[in-house]
Amino acid sequence: MTTTVPVEIHEAIHHATAACADELVTTSRAIHALAEIGFEEFESSRILSGVIEEHGFRVDRGVSGMPTAFVARHGTTGPHVAFVCEYDALRGLGHACGHNLIATSSAGAGIALAQSLSRNNVDARVTIVGAPAEEGGGGKIPLCRDGLFDDCDAVLIFHPSDRTASVQYALACTHWEWTFRGKAAHAAGNPDHGINALDAFVHAYNGVSLWRQQLRDDARVHGFVIEGGTAPNIIPELTRGEYLTRARDGEYLRTMNVRFRAIFEAAAQATGCDLQLEERETYLDLRSNAVLAERASLHLAGVGLQEDQILPWERTGSTDVGDVSYAAPTLHPEFAIADLGIGPHTHAFREAALSQRGEDAMLRAAEVLARIGADVILDADVRHRARDAFLTQPQHRTEWTGSTD
Ligand SMILES: [Zn+2]
Ligand SMILES: [Zn+2]
Repeated sequence: MTTTVPVEIHEAIHHATAACADELVTTSRAIHALAEIGFEEFESSRILSGVIEEHGFRVDRGVSGMPTAFVARHGTTGPHVAFVCEYDALRGLGHACGHNLIATSSAGAGIALAQSLSRNNVDARVTIVGAPAEEGGGGKIPLCRDGLFDDCDAVLIFHPSDRTASVQYALACTHWEWTFRGKAAHAAGNPDHGINALDAFVHAYNGVSLWRQQLRDDARVHGFVIEGGTAPNIIPELTRGEYLTRARDGEYLRTMNVRFRAIFEAAAQATGCDLQLEERETYLDLRSNAVLAERASLHLAGVGLQEDQILPWERTGSTDVGDVSYAAPTLHPEFAIADLGIGPHTHAFREAALSQRGEDAMLRAAEVLARIGADVILDADVRHRARDAFLTQPQHRTEWTGSTD
């Protein structure tokens, strides 16, 4: 599809991205080294929002009740495009999801687009959003709740990957915190006086493992133990940890969550323990906007990148960009920063997020996202078709009609 967007704008974006490339790379490396986890990204947020501010954006920090969130605005009238930054690291694994690269690509895209439009006297609003805690906590959920994305014509964000694709798939996901409480006793002298909280967890773990074989192909359930006891000669009186339940659509996830709770309650009952089970945030499934994806394919080729052929829903995770995709036309393409098979949440991927290849991908992502933004702002047809595609998508996927019994 051609557009009415003048090629000079895309060239201006290319030059503007190149002009701030060193600054973006330095910032990405600094965020990588800080490796601050969700809602604790104080320094990362400060550095990143500072760079954006220096490029003429008006920055509000601590938005939607989150000290490490920010919103940076450029322009006051006209079509509205937002770029979303993530900058949280993984607990125990540093920037093994490459969010340092997401932070600077979205910042670079916003800066390059705003500069290119201003120089061509185009009225538009460009917003760069700093969204904390993607890896648990869901900083975009309060931002969506407060309507930040409601008037956006497009919301754009890339994710590093081991493959390049204009469309990424992501499962709906619920985050659980569980605690079993029993009673301590001497494990040799008085085992019959104890109530074993580790047994309760083993019961629940096995219950989930048996249940898994009955789940749909796209469903996932997995978790870990934070506390599993204190000494081998004490009956464990407290165990606690976290789990995630995931599925392709919110409808099926809801039926899974009912069963998940029942499995943990049954384990408590079987062992005589008390259970505290907190259902924390749920991320919605990701709805990729087909019109924005079409623009992404074009611009990926335009910056010399070839898309990998991927099967829909193959090797997916989850993201709170899913929630954003229910608020506005959204696209979350992925760019390879490592060879196929070196996926996120590994030590090798953390290294890739600091590599030359990773930084090159980040800069190209900034350019591609900015080009898509320019198309949305300057071409009313693209903008209206993207809005129509957004409005006609189903609110929740409900294709699954099986029984929950
Ligand atoms: Zn991740
Ligand atoms: Zn990630």
